[in-house]
Amino acid sequence: MLKEKIAEIKTKSFAEIEKTASEQMLYDVKVKYLGRKGKLTEILKNLKNLDEKKRKTVGALANRIRMEIENAIAKHGREMSEKVDWEKEAIDVTLPGKKQELGHLNPITLVQRDIEKIFTSMGFEIADGPEVELERYNFDALNFPKDHPARDMQDTFWVKSKKESLVLRTHTSPVQIRYMEKHKPPLRIVAPGRVFRNEATDAKHEHTLHQFEALMVGDDISVGNFKYIAQQFFTIFFGKETQIRLRPSFFPFTEPSFEFDISCSICGGKGCRTCKQAGWIEIGGAGMVNQNVFAAAGYPKNKYQGFAWGFGLERLAMMKYKIDDIRWIESGDLRFIKQF
Ligand SMILES: [Zn+2]
Repeated sequence: MLKEKIAEIKTKSFAEIEKTASEQMLYDVKVKYLGRKGKLTEILKNLKNLDEKKRKTVGALANRIRMEIENAIAKHGREMSEKVDWEKEAIDVTLPGKKQELGHLNPITLVQRDIEKIFTSMGFEIADGPEVELERYNFDALNFPKDHPARDMQDTFWVKSKKESLVLRTHTSPVQIRYMEKHKPPLRIVAPGRVFRNEATDAKHEHTLHQFEALMVGDDISVGNFKYIAQQFFTIFFGKETQIRLRPSFFPFTEPSFEFDISCSICGGKGCRTCKQAGWIEIGGAGMVNQNVFAAAGYPKNKYQGFAWGFGLERLAMMKYKIDDIRWIESGDLRFIKQF
């Protein structure tokens, strides 16, 4: 019986070895017959239960078949590897490689880096502050009266808080206060960052914006210093001689305050569609720091003077890269971002 069983194992295993077409299949056949729980292994394990004479003959036979199966497996393995089509398997080193996709910087990031580079080259330090800000830093310390419309729920995101009243900062100006509380003049800082407005969005309005604030304080800083630095900045930023024009305005945190325009970077002041034929483009607000703001930051009144100015990075990015809708910037649309 056992001899027949062994003969059957031989026939079957040989047939299976012949049919295998891969290393894995060959390995599976080996495990099936010669593995720890393999069919032939079982017989070899049970030899001890046979009487001595049978054990000898069956043992010799089983071991011979075991060798034959091992040889057949090795032989088939060699034949398979000889059949490999090396021409097909070879790597064609002349094929072009797979291109690694690179990410793109958002135009806001590009503009922010430009600003930081230009201002640090003029001796300014980069300052930062939190995006969730105390109401008193965002409004009170900047001389906003209690009933100022900017504090309205319609304009500002208020954050629920058990202690002090918090807002998502509506401008980067609170960084002025935070910085001045810790530093004495003379000082010059730029503070770029995100700001938030509770606002319906359209082609010109977004709820999340990027602003940038410049502050320069000393004993005798004047509007002349502001005008010179602003002109330098825009000339380098647009890579073109740029003129500055000031118009009187009002902001709680500056006195006097002004809006400033720059000569149109497209037509150079002659008049075009972008500047609506005016030759000038409104760019932001600025002014001499209100003495109440100095007092809120802990400086004595009327000892120092300085200028502060700010504007939106979106505005600058849209002008520099000729973007027609502000909503593209935060859209995350790859068709947009891949252009930068
Ligand atoms: Zn123009």
